[in-house]
Amino acid sequence: APRKLAAGNWKMNGILASLDEIDALALAHENAGCDILICPPALLVQPAAWHGKQIVAIGGQDCHANASGAHTGDISAAQLKDAGAEYVILGHSERRADHNETDAQIAAKAAAAHAADLIAIICVGETEAQRDAGETLDIIARQLAGSIPAGSTAANTVIAYEPVWAIGTGRTPTNDQIAEVHALMRDRLESLVGSAGDVTLLYGGSVKPGNAAEIFALPNVNGALVGGASLTASDFGAIITAL
Ligand code: 13P
Repeated sequence: APRKLAAGNWKMNGILASLDEIDALALAHENAGCDILICPPALLVQPAAWHGKQIVAIGGQDCHANASGAHTGDISAAQLKDAGAEYVILGHSERRADHNETDAQIAAKAAAAHAADLIAIICVGETEAQRDAGETLDIIARQLAGSIPAGSTAANTVIAYEPVWAIGTGRTPTNDQIAEVHALMRDRLESLVGSAGDVTLLYGGSVKPGNAAEIFALPNVNGALVGGASLTASDFGAIITAL
């Protein structure tokens, strides 16, 4: 069975003082029934790793596909690992949009993450126009096929379904829409990753304390990738408890 994971993506939010929230999470959720992850901005990865107390894992929000070299402003997977990260989010829709990341680049980054012994959280999701055009399942299948590198396993790879139109909007898909995409992902992962039944599948996009339990009850949903509601220990704690 897949490991359950409550993952927080702080995006470009937080300062050193925000790491108190990680202390509060570790204190309150020592015996959580799921793995807990916070992905803070890169500058905070190392200090955050000192706050997790083995209860809250830490991850990056991106890494470069190369192991090292002349790539000004970029961060390697090995550097994240060295700073204490165990995970890295890759192919988030904000990076696909803001930095023109392609499926092939995301696959190369995920291969680099695996080589550095990081768990890659590979994100996929349709835009509102694509959903309206009835293209959702085709888009998800194409993104999965293009973004998951050879060598991916249920142990080193997590998949997050994040409909672009649900991110930061307070809108979520219907339960049937989430379950439909997650069923497709489970199916496609058998050939892309193997042991598909063991791959952790996250839903992301406007997950809040008030809707988390309903979403976690859906088939093939093994946790969440949470943005805004991961910034405080109280909101994120309520989501962890619901999982
Ligand atoms: P929100 O939870 O703020 O909608 O963000 C979701 C997300 O993009 C997590 O990666």
